[in-house]
Amino acid sequence: SSWWKSVEPAPKDPILGVTEAFLADPSPEKVNVGVGAYRDDNGKPVVLECVREAEQRLAGSTFMEYLPMGGSAKMVDLTLKLAYGDNSEFIKDKRIAAVQTLSGTGACRLFADFQKRFCPGSQIYIPVPTWSNHHNIWRDAQVPQKTYHYYHPETKGLDFSALMDDVKNAPEGSFFLLHACAHNPTGVDPTEEQWREISQLFKAKSHFAFFDMAYQGFASGDPARDAKSIRIFLEDGHHIGISQSYAKNMGLYGQRVGCLSVLCEDAKQAVAVKSQLQQLARPMYSNPPLHGAQLVSTILEDPELKSLWLKEVKVMADRIIGMRTTLRESLEKLGSPLSWEHVTKQIGMFCYSGLTPEQVDRLTSEYHIYMTRNGRISMAGVTTGNVGYLANAIHEVTK
Ligand code: PMP
Repeated sequence: SSWWKSVEPAPKDPILGVTEAFLADPSPEKVNVGVGAYRDDNGKPVVLECVREAEQRLAGSTFMEYLPMGGSAKMVDLTLKLAYGDNSEFIKDKRIAAVQTLSGTGACRLFADFQKRFCPGSQIYIPVPTWSNHHNIWRDAQVPQKTYHYYHPETKGLDFSALMDDVKNAPEGSFFLLHACAHNPTGVDPTEEQWREISQLFKAKSHFAFFDMAYQGFASGDPARDAKSIRIFLEDGHHIGISQSYAKNMGLYGQRVGCLSVLCEDAKQAVAVKSQLQQLARPMYSNPPLHGAQLVSTILEDPELKSLWLKEVKVMADRIIGMRTTLRESLEKLGSPLSWEHVTKQIGMFCYSGLTPEQVDRLTSEYHIYMTRNGRISMAGVTTGNVGYLANAIHEVTK
């Protein structure tokens, strides 16, 4: 019809496009290190044992009525403990406004909409580089974006001094998006000491820290340890916001279960903020999905299932850490003259390899290896079976 004459196809998503190309490749040798989803050592997706058990306990035992607008209060309470700490005074004092969200993406978007509505004219500072969807989220929420320095291409580590300069030079009271741990796509996190310095500078500048925590547990294998950045900001008295997701650390990707929280001055303010978050959610999707929230609650409220979960998170993180070592050693054994130290130094799901877009193109066209053109390797897709093949191909295109 003539209604949609002016509609042009949207540009392909840089991450999801990789999987499409991978699926279309008939080669038996093909390797997908593009997608940010965990695979076991056979390259297969995983349903965690704790989730299987929770599924069995839940099966047919619950009604399917709507959750409230803010989602499952039980799930939200258990989720806040993971971020703020089991004995957090902020939880006890009811100072946290929190709602269940459509995973981490939904938490970021709801926060961006909240920021737009209640701090009109404010901007958001986003690291370079970042998860590409951050740009889409704040763009669609109509919050202007600024960037801050993060990654240093030469050291393949953190550009700490440039980051601090940008934090210092931003107008007082600016909003900053921080990756709480396992930065995507670089795998580069500040050290504990650096977090302390960042927090102090944020204090001096009265900046607002919004933590996106999509990989809690995936960096070190221990969710409590991975929340260190957040705990440091809390100790320093910041009123932060947090996006949490169970996509990666519970393998609940498609269930879309997460949480947005905003730490407030007092309980009264938290009630007001929560009611406004719900008001934003109502015309978009009314209320969040039920099943994932039930799975999370079932796991986290049962000490046995929770400790099984913690064990399984560690297994996933350790497999990735092991693959980093093997990939680096394989490249060194092949006689590569380049330094691959960053492969083992970086943490979390991704390795920001330093491969150029042209080298990535060669990996794809000559070796059927698929990844985003920024050189991001999803370590979750690397296995005992393909690591040698991957190392050899990387060596060939970087000679
Ligand atoms: N933030 C970051 C940094 C991510 O990498 C991701 C997942 N790729 C998300 C948020 C959101 O993921 P989800 O919506 O599946 O929780």
